[in-house]
Amino acid sequence: MTTLTESILNELKSIVGPTNVLTDPQQLYHRSKDHYWFSPVLTPEMDGKVAEAQVSPGSTEELLAVIALATRHRIPITPRGAGTGNYGQGVPMAGGILLNHARLNQILELTPDAARVQTGAKLIDIERQARTIGAELRFYPSTLMTATAGGFLAGGSGGIGSVTWGTLWDEGNVLAVTVATIEETPQVLTIQDEEAMKGVVHNCGLTCFILDLTLALAPAQPWAQFAVGFDTLEDALHAAQALVAEETLPKRLVTVLEWPIPGFFRQLVKQGIAPDGKALLLLELVVEPPALEARMAEHRGALTWQSPHEKYHKGGLMLSDFAWNHTTMWVMKADPNYTYLQDSFIPDKLFEQLQLRKARYGNELLAHIEFMKFRGEMVPQGLSIVRFHNKEQLWELMAYCESIGQWIANPHTHRLDEDVRWNGQPILDAKARWDPYGLLNPGHLKALE
Ligand SMILES: Cc1cc2nc3c(=O)[nH]c(=O)nc-3n(C[C@H](O)[C@H](O)[C@H](O)COP(=O)(O)OP(=O)(O)OC[C@H]3O[C@@H](n4cnc5c(N)ncnc54)[C@H](O)[C@@H]3O)c2cc1C
Repeated sequence: MTTLTESILNELKSIVGPTNVLTDPQQLYHRSKDHYWFSPVLTPEMDGKVAEAQVSPGSTEELLAVIALATRHRIPITPRGAGTGNYGQGVPMAGGILLNHARLNQILELTPDAARVQTGAKLIDIERQARTIGAELRFYPSTLMTATAGGFLAGGSGGIGSVTWGTLWDEGNVLAVTVATIEETPQVLTIQDEEAMKGVVHNCGLTCFILDLTLALAPAQPWAQFAVGFDTLEDALHAAQALVAEETLPKRLVTVLEWPIPGFFRQLVKQGIAPDGKALLLLELVVEPPALEARMAEHRGALTWQSPHEKYHKGGLMLSDFAWNHTTMWVMKADPNYTYLQDSFIPDKLFEQLQLRKARYGNELLAHIEFMKFRGEMVPQGLSIVRFHNKEQLWELMAYCESIGQWIANPHTHRLDEDVRWNGQPILDAKARWDPYGLLNPGHLKALE
């Protein structure tokens, strides 16, 4: 593979304009990172991997011209959204071009059922636009405010709303994708069928460059937010289970946090929302507050905060800023000796599995559970918080969780084929077909090393 010469840089500048080619070493150093710092195992592996230039095309034509030029010169390309991915898969392992889609950010078509958007459209902009016509995103990551649609499709899985709608892998959530192949004359392909979609969803920027995507929308709901405190984790979980069992109750967020996790949320502690010693249940529901209060009292829970639907996404406190992987972020910002797991529980063995873990690890392993639909079934999805000592201890802990029947998607590897959620052969087939020279985001697939 070639490195970027002065004449290639000049060609890139003539395609996208000089201000859209960034070569300043200091800026490149920062742009070449994603949020791999969530993993103390990934940090030493990823640190110091820097692109030679960041290129930001302003149209599909410019993007295709950049891909054509890079392919002709056999220069690696790493697709780039907002850089909020957690696994280092946005890190340019072999240098080359960081191909940033920030300027390709238009909402192309919007109906109450679907949004067709360019890859760099911010999820918050889609949510806000959709609300003006009575619709909303089915689900989004807790990075709603910064993450892009294409970055979410390629690097994410689910989030707020997954308790009702499942994940990116579930049929009917992503309706179509347009992608560019990495060839000297790039092809533009529209993908709609389920089999081909497997080569795109959560491909971590390895198989194709996403140009635009069509996301199914849901009817907008008047979401209210609630935080509920419980003396025990078990009570909080029973209350959460009772809520998710109600099929007709509209729900967007059902998060359970074992104490002391809520104690790391300084803002919530200061406002009395996370009382000392209490497990916390974070909720986004459509329910009258007195009715919820009564239901929580049945499980010995008391509301510590509530916000009516009129204030939803209007600039005030968002409980989702403390859920999903934002939970991990606040814990690690307060104490970098922690990290996290991605660990599903078996629904009817949840309490048994939690007890076994507690007996073995005590407070070295804390429960953070997101209730979500996975392949149609309601699953307690763990994003457990772990005290980190070393890689061996972390691997032993994950092996133990698997030995008691938990399903682990290891977030401490940047190799897509070491993640149990990966789509296997369809990704490898798509890679061979659409990236024949292996230029797209090299270094993140064990099978090709
Ligand atoms: C605090 C925090 C909370 C998070 N919460 C969640 C959560 O709730 N749910 C969840 O699923 N994830 C979550 N994440 C992970 C991340 O936010 C999501 O994956 C997010 O949607 C990524 O979007 P992005 O624009 O930042 O993409 P990036 O991080 O820039 O890219 C992600 C991956 O996609 C590839 N990519 C980007 N653009 C393209 C393109 N146009 N074509 C092909 N490949 C492309 C990149 O190469 C990279 O491998 C969280 C991360 C953080 C830091």
